Amino acid sequence: MAQKKLRIGWFTFSCCEDSTIVFTELLNDHWQEWKKMLDIRHARVLQSKNVLDELDVAFIEGALNSKKQVDAVKEIREKSKKVVAIGACACTGLPSAQRNTFKPKEAGEIKPLVEKFEFLPKAQKLADVIKVDVNVPGCPMDEKVFLHALNGLLREFKII
Ligand code: SF4
Repeated sequence: MAQKKLRIGWFTFSCCEDSTIVFTELLNDHWQEWKKMLDIRHARVLQSKNVLDELDVAFIEGALNSKKQVDAVKEIREKSKKVVAIGACACTGLPSAQRNTFKPKEAGEIKPLVEKFEFLPKAQKLADVIKVDVNVPGCPMDEKVFLHALNGLLREFKII
């Protein structure tokens, strides 16, 4: 019988994607082991064919800046049993959400961009919009915390 795999997605919103780079670097060391345990349903950085169907775990990086992003993250939440916030921007909003603290002069300077990209008045962390099950802090994410979280989820879903 084929081994059961953890159905995962890796998603990125407003951020610099450094935690995605950390994840791809971890694949260098863990690919042989993870390919037997992970069914990567959605990860645009890794593959061109992606589906957003029923996921066990969604890993989400970045802050949320627009209604489009908020709607997208709500859809991911609906389709995922667990959501992991990846990196400081997803966990706390910052540093992506620095504009939230801008004084009127600075806010005025970025107003054309905020309007052009149809941004919400404030950038939001994931937990402002959806339920988050696990936080992996760090800028970029802390590798050890990520590995600990992933192993915990693999055990919780009885993959290992
Ligand atoms: S937490 Fe840091 S590394 Fe991660 S996306 Fe935000 S700015 Fe980039």
